[in-house]
Amino acid sequence: MRIVISGAAGFIGSHMCDRLLAEGHTVVGIDNFLTGSAQNIAHLASNQRFQFIRHDVTQTTEVDGAVDAVIHMASPASPRDYLEHPIETLAVGSAGTRNMLEVARARNATFLMTSTSETYGDPLVHPQVETYWGNVNPVGPRSCYDESKRFAEALTMAYHRTHHTRTNIARIFNTYGPRMKLNDGRVVPAFLDQALRGEPLTVFGDGSQTRSFCYVSDLVDGLYRLMQSDERYPVNLGNPGEMTILEFAEHIRRLTGSQSAIIHEALPQDDPKQRKPDISKARRLLGWEPHVPLDEGLAQTIDYFRKTQATLA
Ligand code: UDP
Repeated sequence: MRIVISGAAGFIGSHMCDRLLAEGHTVVGIDNFLTGSAQNIAHLASNQRFQFIRHDVTQTTEVDGAVDAVIHMASPASPRDYLEHPIETLAVGSAGTRNMLEVARARNATFLMTSTSETYGDPLVHPQVETYWGNVNPVGPRSCYDESKRFAEALTMAYHRTHHTRTNIARIFNTYGPRMKLNDGRVVPAFLDQALRGEPLTVFGDGSQTRSFCYVSDLVDGLYRLMQSDERYPVNLGNPGEMTILEFAEHIRRLTGSQSAIIHEALPQDDPKQRKPDISKARRLLGWEPHVPLDEGLAQTIDYFRKTQATLA
């Protein structure tokens, strides 16, 4: 297949490119490097089956030649990034999604929308099932991301209903692994960077809020299966292993052998109190579930962060 992927230079996007190329496909990667990095795809420069276009998909987007599948991954994804770029975040979820859907429609290609567990907001149903409509503050600081992705899901369904575009929607839960930016503010890079430097780990609030962390190769495997399925409604992809953020901080300290203290900082507004995917649907429809144990995934990530810190030093 010839596959167009927006956000190709992002954390998950670049791993998706690797997987698609490993499966023998040809990949056209698009990114404007707003939050992605050329470093993440530097190793693909000599690959004959990889083409890169530096482009902002919120602008008119045209791709030459046949296209079999479109994957829309472009978006700031960490709270720090989307709070810094709220308007760009809304633009890429709206105009960007429309432009990528148009590429799919014009070429009769399949379309995969990578949405988020943030569509559930601060969820009142736990664990989160796809049929839950969510609890989102439409005017809070996180709404630029939550509502952008909710709009993108609605637009994707409208293209399917109106134009019969073969669409899929993934709701991605917290994912971690190599190529996350050290300073993107998310909890995995933040705690690892702090622990490896011997600086205090900054737990926001009392740390009783929960998250469930999925290693990137597992996530990418779920996305690859989903884009080949006929399921049009959203499918959760994530690891159901849930823990509190305070437990996670203590765990990172043990794993890295760090002497770092744990300190508490203010809890950001609308920070979801609990998050854990119900993955029954992915298990049933895709035969998918995560396999990489947390400590194994974290070991890979720690290794990457150590090397990255060394090159920055
Ligand atoms: N968090 C924290 N310290 C940090 C960064 C994040 O305690 O330095 C908390 C944050 O408040 C949230 C959880 O960790 O409850 C996950 O945050 P992240 O930014 O990784 O992603 P989110 O799941 O909120 O989108």
